[in-house]
Amino acid sequence: MKRVIMKFGGTSVGSGEHIRHVADLINNHLGKGYQMVVVVSALKGVTDALIEASEEARSGNRDHVHKLLQKTTEKHVAATENAIKNKSIRKEVEQTLETTLDELEKVFTGIIYLGELTPKSKDYVLSFGERMSTLIVWGTLRDLGLSVQYFTGKDAGIVTDSNFGEARPMMKVTAHQIKQKIEPLLEKRIIPVVTGYIGATQDGEITTLGRGGSDYTATIIAAALEADEVWVWTDVDGLMTSDPKIVPSAKVIPELSFQEAIEMAIFGAKAMHPRALEPAMEKEIPVRIRNTFNLQNPGTLIVMEQKIKPKDVVKGITLIKNLALVNVSGAGMVGTPGTAAKIFDILGKNNINVLMISQSASEANISFILQREVLERAVSTLEIALLASGLIHEVTAEDDVCVVAVVGAGMKGTPGVAARMFGAVARRGVNMRMIAQGSSELNISFVVKETDGEKAVLAIHEEFKL
Ligand code: ASP
Ligand code: MG
Repeated sequence: MKRVIMKFGGTSVGSGEHIRHVADLINNHLGKGYQMVVVVSALKGVTDALIEASEEARSGNRDHVHKLLQKTTEKHVAATENAIKNKSIRKEVEQTLETTLDELEKVFTGIIYLGELTPKSKDYVLSFGERMSTLIVWGTLRDLGLSVQYFTGKDAGIVTDSNFGEARPMMKVTAHQIKQKIEPLLEKRIIPVVTGYIGATQDGEITTLGRGGSDYTATIIAAALEADEVWVWTDVDGLMTSDPKIVPSAKVIPELSFQEAIEMAIFGAKAMHPRALEPAMEKEIPVRIRNTFNLQNPGTLIVMEQKIKPKDVVKGITLIKNLALVNVSGAGMVGTPGTAAKIFDILGKNNINVLMISQSASEANISFILQREVLERAVSTLEIALLASGLIHEVTAEDDVCVVAVVGAGMKGTPGVAARMFGAVARRGVNMRMIAQGSSELNISFVVKETDGEKAVLAIHEEFKL
């Protein structure tokens, strides 16, 4: 018997019809003998609306909050109506929705009065999206006559640290609790339906796992139950060789390793929560990305083994925009140990994240890439901290760059990959500003002017015939 954790993203449950479709899909797999845990994201756009509403509440914009709440209510009521046919089940779901929304309204009232939105209260607000969507999916599965049980992430046993907004699971306790609460149901052929994205601290305070965190919920549960696979149902056919908006001939990657997928996800493919692959990888549980609306397509399978075929050295290319390049230089840096540490320590302490780093062997300059929106703050912080000391001479910046990241395990130990890549880019007349390759050799990243980014991606896609 195959045990699969199935996670449905926001677009997969975007409307009542879609939820109905998802429920049929689950029902079919039950018929095929699958043991399943279903993990559900908030309906499309709801998390964003809740974030907006909580910020409006903090600013005291009662009317705006009210409007957003109204819209959210309508969305869920309409979805319920279209998804659930049985009147009494529908009524039950509607009533629970109503109490849930009343509670949410009270929370907003609290925020409006206090004029304060703490990370803790924000997470509490955000948990409502998944609480409501999962309720509707639960009702729809019951409508089809299936045995189901509703769980919030907290009730399912997901215990996290108290880093609200980006909480991390405490895997030992979590795994133990999930096993205790969920596993007996599977044996009785009951389908647990769990809210994605949500956990709770040891004191029972609601936390969220970070944006896109429902993927993480699915892999956490999979690891705890030693599932055979995790299926992430979404609205695309899988991970692509590149963004089809840039490269119309981009294709689905049928299979890749966890290592490669992590490189792709981190470098902006944004197909998954960045840490979601960790629990699956640890337990060697394959993760499949599938299209809810194209069941014929097998999707992308992410596995442990690094299968390297001589022909596909490069698997995927991603483009990351809205970045800036900073160059720190000075003769004082040459042969002075600790310079790099100082620079990155200052940035770290100021909560400025660095995406890419390179230093020439002359040691006379260090370049790095960060988000464009933090550029000014980064430059002034470095100038204040380092110029006076004489250690550095100058901080310069360019605010119109992007990163092209090329990923593939086959690049490792294959000579000439970089040469082909850079040759292809150069032939298009694109100038590279900075290059970095990690020693894992899974990823080569380079920086070009933002206006040249798409050209560079196309050039490489063509060169490696992806
Ligand atoms: N609803 C949350 C978000 O939009 C979590 C998720 O969709 O995975 O980030
Ligand atoms: Mg989502």
